[in-house]
Amino acid sequence: MDQIVRSFLNEVGSRNTHEPEFMQAVTEVAQTVIPYIVANDIYHGKNILMRMVEPERVVMFRVPWVDDKGEIRVNRGYRIEMNSAIGPYKGGLRFHESVNMSILKFLAFEQVFKNALTTLPMGGGKGGADFNPKGKSDAEVMRFCQSFMTELFRHIGPNRDIPAGDIGVGGREIGYMFGQYKRLKNEFTGVLTGKGISWGGSLIRPEATGYGAVYFAQNMLQTRGESIEGKTVVISGSGNVAQYAAEKAIQLGATVLTLSDSSGFIYDPDGIDQEKLAYVMQLKNIDRKRIHEYVERYPKASFNKAQKPWGIACEVAMPCATQNELDEKSAKQLVENGCYCISEGANMPSTPEAIIQFHENKVLYAPGKASNAGGVAVSGLEMAQNSLRYNWTRQEVDKRLQDIMEDIHKACMEYGAENGSINYEKGANIAGFVKVADAMLAQGVV
Ligand code: NDP
Repeated sequence: MDQIVRSFLNEVGSRNTHEPEFMQAVTEVAQTVIPYIVANDIYHGKNILMRMVEPERVVMFRVPWVDDKGEIRVNRGYRIEMNSAIGPYKGGLRFHESVNMSILKFLAFEQVFKNALTTLPMGGGKGGADFNPKGKSDAEVMRFCQSFMTELFRHIGPNRDIPAGDIGVGGREIGYMFGQYKRLKNEFTGVLTGKGISWGGSLIRPEATGYGAVYFAQNMLQTRGESIEGKTVVISGSGNVAQYAAEKAIQLGATVLTLSDSSGFIYDPDGIDQEKLAYVMQLKNIDRKRIHEYVERYPKASFNKAQKPWGIACEVAMPCATQNELDEKSAKQLVENGCYCISEGANMPSTPEAIIQFHENKVLYAPGKASNAGGVAVSGLEMAQNSLRYNWTRQEVDKRLQDIMEDIHKACMEYGAENGSINYEKGANIAGFVKVADAMLAQGVV
């Protein structure tokens, strides 16, 4: 088996040199899915996984814009249309200086599996630009978004490809891009998700990824007869996903000890309650400032510059910032300090070596493609509401979100049961694979 996996990865690697994040995501899937393919005749001789690692289409384009000083800047924009076997391409846009082909292809590949797990009819895609919105004025961000959409609009549409937010793309950026799309096409359609409530957005969409990741942690804990109530939770990030993961954990009676950004993390031994979290939301979303300001407001907390929060003792850890933010050393620290439940809010935040630690120590470990699927799931619900020209209530959307997270958990249990425990990584990969692969087989070689 090792030989088959190695030879598959060698072939993919030779075609995708200099794409380490993409190869990391493919390796993780290949190790669990290839044994399943070998054991199931219907996939033999179809080269199905090789077809899945090749994007259906990649668009790369120039994004010129003018800054507030009148200088002309140039960024690079991308859209990876990875797989449309079960529905139109769907996945976020990331604006961050680190964005490149490797990162977007890993995200698009993960998205295909994640979207399949939601049970909604959505294919997978991802896009973005190497643009850093931090420190830019609203007017600069608007001009960038308009220029970005002036090319992207040719490739997307409500039945073709429906982008959403990701790192660096929140409600403000979606608004500017939606406005430009509407102007260029002269039509009001649900071409983006994460829209404002008064212009086609869904209630609970901003909350969905973070809430969903906590619901998933709750589902995992329930397999051991436990709940998140009373647990200590360490969270990284302080953006969209981290904020709402913290909110739901607090609502369910957990104590949230940390939040972070790329400059370091804050640790509040008294716990971050709803009022303190409201301050963080103001700080990050409105004032657009750094997390260290928290300790000026709440002096009992400490700021740990250029560090990650994984050394703080906790029972539940939720990495909600970015890829590869939790390495082997951090995983060992977490386990030694008594952490036994990891629900990933970010995409691929744990390195392969960290994941081995979780498996070896029987930690309840949920990979992002399962635990953070709540965001795209509610995006799917936003698309459904746009088609119906109708809005569901907050309670209705939240109930659907909880049901979807429970269904994903069940799918992981179905395909991931081994030696009396559940390997959520294997379960998520195989469950996602089966849905997409079966659709691809039915549609022929296209
Ligand atoms: P935001 O831009 O709202 O927040 C990102 C947070 O992560 C910020 O606190 C940011 O700090 C921190 N961060 C980003 N890059 C780094 C880095 N290289 N090192 C350390 N910290 C970093 O993004 P989201 O909350 O939307 O996304 C967070 C993660 O969740 C990503 O992995 C994303 O792909 C994933 N995700 C998001 C979904 C969504 O619905 N938004 C859906 C599913 C997954 P700073 O401000 O200093 O950069």
